[in-house]
Amino acid sequence: MAKKIVVIGAGIIGASIAYHLSANGADVTVIEKSAPASGATATSFAWINANFAETPEFFALRTASIAAWQILEKEIDHADFKVRWGGSLSWGDGNAEQAGHAKALTELGYVIKIIDPTEFSALEPTIRPPEGDCLHALDEGAIDPVSATRVLLQAAAGHGARMVYGCGIDQLLMQNSRVTGVATPFGEIAADEVVVAAGVWSHDLAAQAGVGLPMDNSHSIIVRTTQAKPLISRVILSPDVHFRQDLDGSVIFAESFSGGEICGDPSNSAAKILKLLRHRVPDLGRIEIENIYVGNRPIPADGFPVIGRASGAQGLYLATMHSGITLAPIVGKLATNEILNGADDEMLAPYRLSRFQ
Ligand SMILES: Cc1cc2nc3c(=O)[nH]c(=O)nc-3n(C[C@H](O)[C@H](O)[C@H](O)COP(=O)(O)OP(=O)(O)OC[C@H]3O[C@@H](n4cnc5c(N)ncnc54)[C@H](O)[C@@H]3O)c2cc1C
Repeated sequence: MAKKIVVIGAGIIGASIAYHLSANGADVTVIEKSAPASGATATSFAWINANFAETPEFFALRTASIAAWQILEKEIDHADFKVRWGGSLSWGDGNAEQAGHAKALTELGYVIKIIDPTEFSALEPTIRPPEGDCLHALDEGAIDPVSATRVLLQAAAGHGARMVYGCGIDQLLMQNSRVTGVATPFGEIAADEVVVAAGVWSHDLAAQAGVGLPMDNSHSIIVRTTQAKPLISRVILSPDVHFRQDLDGSVIFAESFSGGEICGDPSNSAAKILKLLRHRVPDLGRIEIENIYVGNRPIPADGFPVIGRASGAQGLYLATMHSGITLAPIVGKLATNEILNGADDEMLAPYRLSRFQ
């Protein structure tokens, strides 16, 4: 009989896990308190990369996920599930630091080149080039995270998964120290395993099972403009503004890819950064700010993901992390193997909750 799994949360992580579980024959129900992709996923810069990985193991997980994105894109084959590949262009740390960063990544097997302003302009003719060299990381990309999440959920539904939106989990059901399902305002749903992919809310759900999940979340803002003509092909990380253009023409920008500090009225910060963006891309024309997103980044206390079964609460699988857009495909794949086949994946070993205990 198919294993019955409840996935709490329809952000990109819950969507990817639900997709991989249902594609592998599980009986999946996704429960989302609000709408799909309405948490951190909706407010993400959505840069897919392994450019900043604090350990070789984390670098390996991130590069495996870049490869998994390529496979998933082909497998899903949907117009709204397209990564904009082409890499990133970054500068600002000084030549010695840039060269050191490129060398360290190259030694790990990353494809990254140092290019001069003329080469930059050949790649991005409408962007004011840096004064000196910059880094071109070739294998990176970006995606519209909301469309991608919706398409993954549709694909999961195509494999028989049930979606319940607008319905929060009130309580995890427990028998002795085992999680046996969830209680919703409309009744109980039994499960062989419950996956908590609830972003910043994961801490509260885990606590219901007596599991401590230390988090250090942080708020930041990302801005989306109205649609512009095609101007920007890659993810651009300049010293004062990070930006990229979606396939629909809108430009996504912030002080930094992981968002900007919020000091006072977010619209003032957004207007200030738009000025910097206009300086960097003079042809932007009449675009306006369409939305300012205040996101809350789900960050486990040491900055690394928490993925796997929680010791002390059988039947509970946690998947909470920052860089979730980059990591969603590999996490969906590896978590599915662990949940359905009892595997203990070496690649996920550094991310067990037990490291905090
Ligand atoms: C400003 C910003 C920039 C970022 N930039 C990048 C980037 O460039 N690259 C990258 O890889 N990552 C980036 N990230 C991180 C990435 O967006 C997140 O790691 C990812 O979106 C997390 O996805 P998630 O599915 O775990 O969480 P979420 O998207 O938050 O989804 C969790 C869902 O769970 C639901 N939920 C919560 N509690 C319950 C409950 N009790 N019952 C039912 N449903 C519940 C919520 O409603 C929500 O929809 C960025 C994040 C932010 C905020």
